[in-house]
Amino acid sequence: MKNRDRLRIAIQKSGRLSDQSQDLLSKCGLKFRSSRDKLFCFGESLPIDLLLVRDDDIPGLIEQGVCDLGVVGRNVLREQELSVRARGEAPLFGELRALGFGRCRLSIAIPQELEYEGVAQLSGLRIATSYPSLLGDWLRENQVDARTVVLSGSVEIAPRLGTADAICDLVSSGATLVANQLKEAAILLESEAVLAGASVTPDDERGELLELLLRRLDGVLQVRE
Ligand code: ATP
Ligand code: ZN
Repeated sequence: MKNRDRLRIAIQKSGRLSDQSQDLLSKCGLKFRSSRDKLFCFGESLPIDLLLVRDDDIPGLIEQGVCDLGVVGRNVLREQELSVRARGEAPLFGELRALGFGRCRLSIAIPQELEYEGVAQLSGLRIATSYPSLLGDWLRENQVDARTVVLSGSVEIAPRLGTADAICDLVSSGATLVANQLKEAAILLESEAVLAGASVTPDDERGELLELLLRRLDGVLQVRE
């Protein structure tokens, strides 16, 4: 990891986590001067800068040492952690704090007309998902022999299109499932936004900044409880 004297936090540029991520950091006393392209925001109150990116890029940016911290859904973090492990490597990033917003669950959903009688019923099905590692892990653990169909988006329409029999996707209110004539059958992961960081704390100025930020964050999170 390169030596830097400023801490860098990656958050989602635009999406479900963006506003609350910014809000949380400002509650921690961080103020930023945003640059015109809004990819990089310079920290004015402390030597802590912001990078605005796609959520899926956040674990990789931490792994590469481009960023020290990131706010990302546990679903994204775990998926990438498992895919690193599947390559036989140890992930260089991990969850530091649960942040209490962006709550959802990764669930398997089946057509409404099917009666759900338990995991064994999923054997032989084609399950569409954008989370192949989390799904694969769960299927193995539950000894279900199903086929994974990897889709990058619009997973919920796969059963209607006939490209899959069931899906494994994020659910919050369940409205999307109902709109697609699906129902939740099994929960694989309870998710929320988390603060992710490098597995090894940097041993330069950033280490102290990280500690300061975590102290402030814990204070903010405690008040919210
Ligand atoms: P990006 O353009 O950054 O890749 P995205 O489309 O992948 O954005 P969003 O839809 O904004 O991501 O979701 C970001 C995160 O919000 C999800 O990874 C998840 O942790 C959380 N989330 C909470 N509720 C839901 C939900 N109902 N559906 C999808 N994600 C949800
Ligand atoms: Zn994304």
